Amino acid sequence: MQKQWKKGINQLDIVYPNKKFGGAYNLGILIIYNLVNNIPNWMCNRVFLDEGKISANLIGFTFQYEPDYFNIKGMLAKSGIAIEKEKRKQILFAGGPCVNANPTALSKYMDFLVMGDAEEILPKILDCYTEDKPKFLENISKIPGVFVPGLNNPSCSYVKSLDDTPYPLYQPLPVDVPKEYVFGNAFLLEPERGCPFVCKFCPMPSRGGVRLRSLEKIKEIIDKGIKLNKRNKVIIYTASFTHPKRKEILKYLLSNNLEFSVPSIKVELADRDFLELIRKGGQRTLTIAPECDEKLRFDIGKRVDDEQYFRFIENANDLSFETIKAYFMIGIPEQNDENIKKMCEFIIKAKGLSKAKFYVSINPFVPKPGTAFSEYQFDEGVIKKQAKLLKSFLGKSGLRFKIQGARQAREEWILTHKKEVYF
Ligand code: SF4
Repeated sequence: MQKQWKKGINQLDIVYPNKKFGGAYNLGILIIYNLVNNIPNWMCNRVFLDEGKISANLIGFTFQYEPDYFNIKGMLAKSGIAIEKEKRKQILFAGGPCVNANPTALSKYMDFLVMGDAEEILPKILDCYTEDKPKFLENISKIPGVFVPGLNNPSCSYVKSLDDTPYPLYQPLPVDVPKEYVFGNAFLLEPERGCPFVCKFCPMPSRGGVRLRSLEKIKEIIDKGIKLNKRNKVIIYTASFTHPKRKEILKYLLSNNLEFSVPSIKVELADRDFLELIRKGGQRTLTIAPECDEKLRFDIGKRVDDEQYFRFIENANDLSFETIKAYFMIGIPEQNDENIKKMCEFIIKAKGLSKAKFYVSINPFVPKPGTAFSEYQFDEGVIKKQAKLLKSFLGKSGLRFKIQGARQAREEWILTHKKEVYF
């Protein structure tokens, strides 16, 4: 199925600067791979940190996590390509959530940045392609969603109708999917893009709004994707799975004897029927993100009360889910000792209610650009103090929990806000 290079065909290498076991399930990579390979005079090659070699003249990186920036130089060097713009003939660009959040960070090394949805922007870029770099950059600087440092200012461009947007049906995985590939031999289904909720800490609401695929289109994608890739499992690939036909989608998967997994669940929308469908689809673990205590939760825009979480846990008990993973944050603006105490009381009560194994993960809050907390200063001292307090509250409960390091989060915050990153 990999398109073969022949004379007259242009090549684009799409690079995931981390290991393939995660990158193989990156929908952005699959979108570009399918999109480019469906253009007659273009072919696309996927390159991962641990597999493949960069060999094209046009090279695109996608960034999900800022620390991946540090893999660019080594990957280019392995293929004999200089990172400095003036020392190479190849054209480098980048896209993905990190670029959308901070488009200037990589402007010293990237010839251009893509901001928004690849389906909307990339075909227009390829139409302008020429090996004459200055001419090419001049031409693409007029395309909305293309930021060429020195020539124009950052702008975003998003698809309006997902039904009118081609779906990445071909999703290659190794023949024998290794154990570390967390989703296994699964097909990624994106029924919607965006999120209708407006949590103040999350950049998602500022990215193009909510777009839904119709149920008919979703069924067609499932039928074609499963057949083409010979998969028996589907991953619902969304930020929050709020699609108004979400139950019908799951019922359709069940009626086709397909296993499925819904990694992102909105507790306030997950009634017993919905959870029952998920359980029937073979899912054993539920992931929730209460973030903090109830009062602060409402203040930061996540309008779900504690009782809704407790009802959710009781439903999960009835349906014999085996594991619940719960995510919380410390270092949130205005979060004080009283909030931490209340959060711990909530955690202890939730754990006590759950018959499933209950894992708690606590992460330092990292203020992101494009959110209400963009200007908030990360304070490593506050994180350390709150982590200590939390340990003293939770330590006695016998509960298993993990607190992510403050230093790593601080580095992420710096990279997210830095005007330019230097290697
Ligand atoms: S945190 Fe989740 S629910 Fe809230 S806006 Fe972001 S994606 Fe939506």
